[in-house]
Amino acid sequence: MRITCVETFLMQAGAPEDRAWASDKAGVQNSSRNWLFVKVHTDDGFYGVGECSGWPRVIEAAVRDLAEVLVGEDPAHIEKLWQKMMVAQMAHGMTGVVGAGAMTGIDMALWDIKGKVLGAPVWSLLGGQVRDRIRIYSHASTPEVAVELKARGIMAVKTGGVRDPLAKVAAIREAIGNDVDLMVDLHGPPWLPPKDAIALGRALEPYHLLFMEDPIAPENIDGLARVADSVAIPIAAGERLATIWGWRSLIEREIVDVIQPDTGRAGGISQMKKLAGMAEAHHIMLAPHSGSLGPVAEFAALHLLAAIPNTLMLERIESDWVGRNEVISAPPVLENGHLIVPTAPGLGVDIVEEAVARYPSRRNVSIAAGGYEPGTEAEHVYVQMRLHRAAYLSTAKPSGAETL
Ligand SMILES: [Mg+2]
Repeated sequence: MRITCVETFLMQAGAPEDRAWASDKAGVQNSSRNWLFVKVHTDDGFYGVGECSGWPRVIEAAVRDLAEVLVGEDPAHIEKLWQKMMVAQMAHGMTGVVGAGAMTGIDMALWDIKGKVLGAPVWSLLGGQVRDRIRIYSHASTPEVAVELKARGIMAVKTGGVRDPLAKVAAIREAIGNDVDLMVDLHGPPWLPPKDAIALGRALEPYHLLFMEDPIAPENIDGLARVADSVAIPIAAGERLATIWGWRSLIEREIVDVIQPDTGRAGGISQMKKLAGMAEAHHIMLAPHSGSLGPVAEFAALHLLAAIPNTLMLERIESDWVGRNEVISAPPVLENGHLIVPTAPGLGVDIVEEAVARYPSRRNVSIAAGGYEPGTEAEHVYVQMRLHRAAYLSTAKPSGAETL
């Protein structure tokens, strides 16, 4: 069997102007999300589907370039082809999330082909099932949303944002009680120096969080280590990283307790299986990132998380933009806060090309309204949250919904 071509399918996932895709619409500035799906075709008639989430509109070009080194190859040899794609990018300065995103979608499609050819679900090829359902968590900016999620059986919620994280956590914990897992995402802000992140973390300790995510800029690994050593809350990080080398320091130094690879851009199922093994050796768990992630990569995450021992949970936006279910053959089944692991051969999902074509890509970069206004108190990046520090570290009533 030989690879004959690689097709790409780029789409807008939610209209840019209508904020249509988030569970908490008030917190979302726009929907600049694009989803990029790939199909790897073979001369035997088998094809596989995959998804790339790093910067989809840019990755589409990367996938077309990489296709040139794949056509004519045997799709069975996934590791060899992954390494070939990696070597092909060396002259470009290696990967980043664009190169890794391109390899991710192709790798995912190769696993799909292998499963279809062998008549086995991908989890079976990864060693079989540790579990047949994957616990999910969703987002809540307000106690009301968190209570709604709990009522639907989703027993893990994450809040956060750049304002009032402490107040939000306090209000949500009071509303949901102690039988729901609660997490906070601080989004890796450079405006939160390690000392403030430690102060905030210590103030959050009484709320028994499952993890505190990206408390400082993720590039500051030594700073993250200081935060982790000073705060009695597990630390989660890594949604922006790619390939096993991206997480190496965080894992080997045991700075984090949870890693959050994005299944659409981490490097593919092949890389994530290796990453899970690296983490397992250090008693670190996986809670893959979602948000920008589309529905095909979510299926890939289910197969991987079914097959590894150190699965914590899968992030999921409830309810996402309605088109999410329209562009795939069928969504995964959600039962009592868990997604059921698919059992069909391969990934068990296909894209609906006509539906994808209805949503052409229009915009794939975003910045929150007022998100960067140098010279004002709304100057993000280095200033904003260093001002009004007392308010940030207060449990006073939240001022309003914020972007998660
Ligand atoms: Mg995050």
